[in-house]
Amino acid sequence: MSVQRTDVAIVGAGMAGAALAALLAEQGLDVLLCEAGEPQAALPPLPACIADVDPRVSAINVASRSVLEAAGAWSALPDAARCAYQAMRVWEEDGTGRISFDASDIGAPELGYLVENRWITAALLRALAAQPRVQLRSRETLVSLRLPDEPGRPAQVQFASGLGVQAALVVGADGAQSAVRSLCGIEAPPRDTGQRAIVATIRTSGSHAHTAWQRFLQSGPLALLPLAALPGGHAASIVWSADAAVAERLLALDDGDFARALTRASEACCGEVLEVTPRLAFPLRQLHAASYTAPGIALVGDAAHVIHPLAGQGINLGFADVRVLAEEIARARGRGEPLASADALARFARRRRGENAAMLAAMQGFQRLFGDTHPAVRLVRNLGLGAVDRLAPLKRAFMREAMGFH
Ligand SMILES: Cc1cc2nc3c(=O)[nH]c(=O)nc-3n(C[C@H](O)[C@H](O)[C@H](O)COP(=O)(O)OP(=O)(O)OC[C@H]3O[C@@H](n4cnc5c(N)ncnc54)[C@H](O)[C@@H]3O)c2cc1C
Repeated sequence: MSVQRTDVAIVGAGMAGAALAALLAEQGLDVLLCEAGEPQAALPPLPACIADVDPRVSAINVASRSVLEAAGAWSALPDAARCAYQAMRVWEEDGTGRISFDASDIGAPELGYLVENRWITAALLRALAAQPRVQLRSRETLVSLRLPDEPGRPAQVQFASGLGVQAALVVGADGAQSAVRSLCGIEAPPRDTGQRAIVATIRTSGSHAHTAWQRFLQSGPLALLPLAALPGGHAASIVWSADAAVAERLLALDDGDFARALTRASEACCGEVLEVTPRLAFPLRQLHAASYTAPGIALVGDAAHVIHPLAGQGINLGFADVRVLAEEIARARGRGEPLASADALARFARRRRGENAAMLAAMQGFQRLFGDTHPAVRLVRNLGLGAVDRLAPLKRAFMREAMGFH
């Protein structure tokens, strides 16, 4: 069995793990990034039609863009691989509630960008390939973990291949089913939302107007998210979250009937839906780890929290974890403390936990508020959205929050 020593071992080379590796390498740390799959550093081909677009896309806010810039990845994303959006329109099926957000209200050029997840990961891995201090190992699945025997000693991890690693800090960036989290005995009971998210790419007869559209239907929220224009016309990505039974019915429709259902459900906000790609469906669960740290261990991204995609915040919260963990490690080293000192990890957890908990609670509240058909709740909903829409300062505060400014 080989044992490798490094400053930081990151388990999981998804968007969160790869971004953290890049920020830590910038600080001069040696990083071992271990991934169970086979991540691709080659940039995907630019799409020529909607079938070429991977339906797993993320709405990246302005704060996440800064993380990607610091990681050296943003410049690898050509214009055709990202679509800026300047406005958000939210309205509901059942009532008169509606609210709009415009970047111009706060003097910003945009609210965020839509990017395929595989483009973000590839751009990060490309930036990592130029970092001699980062070693990426594919097909390495974590199987066991030993916490440090005493403060200042390394944590130890073991992979299925037989590779053993000793590191001052082990980071779990290994997603919702995090092995790092469970091997540390950190609880994270999943809360099933009872919904599934259907994702696909669509071609529409009208423009999306660089706007993120979200309609709250009785069965769950439907989002139409703008994509860069394709030679064949206007393209958008959909995330249709629906109660399990409704999702089953939608998945069983043929493409033509699904496109017509989508045109109706979106009130043709981007015109008629002309074409849809094969649909993917994800069960929607929320979870929040009882702790983000253990001695010598930190959790980031979906390993620490999984949130309903209705506000497009999952990886934005993950990138914020990454930024704060990198800042606290730099601070500890600047003070001459070990990089995974108990104080540094506590500061990281304190700075991230409150914000993530508030966002998870807000999503749960939204889901309840919009899922309720009681007339009193509908009235509150209509009055509430209208009031927020008319109150400029409150609206600006919401927008800053969603853009990742605190
Ligand atoms: C339908 C849908 C729409 C979404 N839309 C948005 C959006 O618009 N905006 C947004 O911010 N977020 C969005 N999200 C959330 C976002 O996709 C996730 O938050 C994000 O992908 C999590 O990234 P991660 O790097 O933390 O974890 P993951 O992407 O899950 O990566 C974890 C990595 O760890 C590896 N791994 C797992 N176990 C092991 C192991 N034992 N050993 C080694 N490696 C391991 C995996 O192979 C994987 O590569 C959406 C989610 C869904 C379901």
